[in-house]
Amino acid sequence: MTTDVLIQVQDLKKHFTGTSAIKALDGVSVDIKKGEVVVVIGPSGSGKSTFLRCLNLLEVPTGGQILFNGVDITDKSCNINLHRQKMGMVFQHFNLFPHMTILRNMTLAPVKLLHKSQEEADAQALKLLQRVGLGDRGNAYPAQLSGGQKQRVAIARALATNPRYLLCDEATSALDPNTTRSILELLREINKTLGVTIIVITHEMKVIDQICDRVAVIDKSCIAEEGRVADVFTNPKSDIARELVLPQERPVLDPTTGG
Ligand code: ADP
Ligand code: MG
Repeated sequence: MTTDVLIQVQDLKKHFTGTSAIKALDGVSVDIKKGEVVVVIGPSGSGKSTFLRCLNLLEVPTGGQILFNGVDITDKSCNINLHRQKMGMVFQHFNLFPHMTILRNMTLAPVKLLHKSQEEADAQALKLLQRVGLGDRGNAYPAQLSGGQKQRVAIARALATNPRYLLCDEATSALDPNTTRSILELLREINKTLGVTIIVITHEMKVIDQICDRVAVIDKSCIAEEGRVADVFTNPKSDIARELVLPQERPVLDPTTGG
């Protein structure tokens, strides 16, 4: 393994059993390097969320390995709580506690998990809020913020435990295109200034080539294609990547015939 690989996923499998047996992931292998912004794209139901959830063991893989800095986190002897502290997760629906102020939402984990004093956690949270452009909203409640602002808070909260990497599952799906762009730009800036490795799932193809370094295309529970965004977006090799990244050809309608 080269030293700049942060996460090495090898033949990852997640087979759900039960009434309907589903192979959500069926042999996914991919390397993620330190400091990269990687985007995962693919059709609905292809396994993107399951992949992200496996990375912090919200789903326990049924096969394969996930090496984090060379340590296999799927090994029973791995301290998963220690591992989870190194990563932040941002979800589509923000998951902020409505009855707590923004500051309280942000300081919960640093105080409870990292045993910081409330004062220390408050000071760090304020700095993070300033970083995401909401330095004056610490005492507001989530309901008083717009969707984009809530997602900024969710990102700041995810950073409050000083994670080495950030996982974002459709963090912008509930937002309009302009807000989406600004959130993705914020993630890029966090990546550049803090050196946090970021893995995002998004459907916003237009901004991916400006924000992300590499793309993994998941289709039918497997990696269909992966590579540098510039390469995959200009020269997609798989049918599914072509379908997702190339502008769709639209039939020219004849207004006189309505056809
Ligand atoms: P995506 O995020 O790409 O839309 P998911 O990873 O959510 O796809 O789901 C992949 C497949 O695994 C889907 O068929 C989904 O129904 C199935 N799946 C996801 N989670 C579970 C679960 N907890 N139990 C059973 N099947 C699941
Ligand atoms: Mg999903």
